[in-house]
Amino acid sequence: MIFEALEVGIYGANCYIAASEVTREAAIIDPGADFNKIDSKLNELKVTPKIIILTHCHGDHIGAVEDLVDKYGLKVYIHREDAEGLKDSGMNFTKSMFRKEISIKADVLLEDGDQINLGDLKFEIIHTPGHTKGGICIKAGNIMMTGDTLFRRSIGRTDFPGGSYDEIISSIKDKIFKYDDDTVIYPGHMSPSTIKEEKLLNPFVKTR
Ligand SMILES: [Zn+2]
Ligand SMILES: [Zn+2]
Repeated sequence: MIFEALEVGIYGANCYIAASEVTREAAIIDPGADFNKIDSKLNELKVTPKIIILTHCHGDHIGAVEDLVDKYGLKVYIHREDAEGLKDSGMNFTKSMFRKEISIKADVLLEDGDQINLGDLKFEIIHTPGHTKGGICIKAGNIMMTGDTLFRRSIGRTDFPGGSYDEIISSIKDKIFKYDDDTVIYPGHMSPSTIKEEKLLNPFVKTR
């Protein structure tokens, strides 16, 4: 798998590009801002973007979606329960975060357990509510993109509409932590970690 992380926008969101080495087809995960930076990286990697997968609907993760869709005709995937927020610039905070109001209609609504195939890659969708109702983690091979659910040594905020502290804790402990300890997590903000490290060292969810 070709895999690249880019930090984008004023909120420092992580955008990930995951592409098949066989077909060079790419998925863009959370293109939060900086269309030109993402587009240059796609060219540099010589990959063809096919789909956008959003971990959730918030403005800092969706700012470059429209420009990428305009250029490449990509299909936008999001969990069913965050589709409304993606359309509503009040709910996705683009009205308050940026001057630009963003309203996007998703093409594909995801459910827990869905699998997206792209070239030789398989993306497994894990519904992890708590930061938003339709937040997801996306697992591809040994890596998991955790959006704003699980960060290195921290967890996502739960004080936004649709957020729940109890839900985010159980999403992490019951759904994320059941995967292999050596799974590398790539969060929506800040640096990567592993499930093993977070089980030991994350003060919100450590298990021993
Ligand atoms: Zn968020
Ligand atoms: Zn965020």
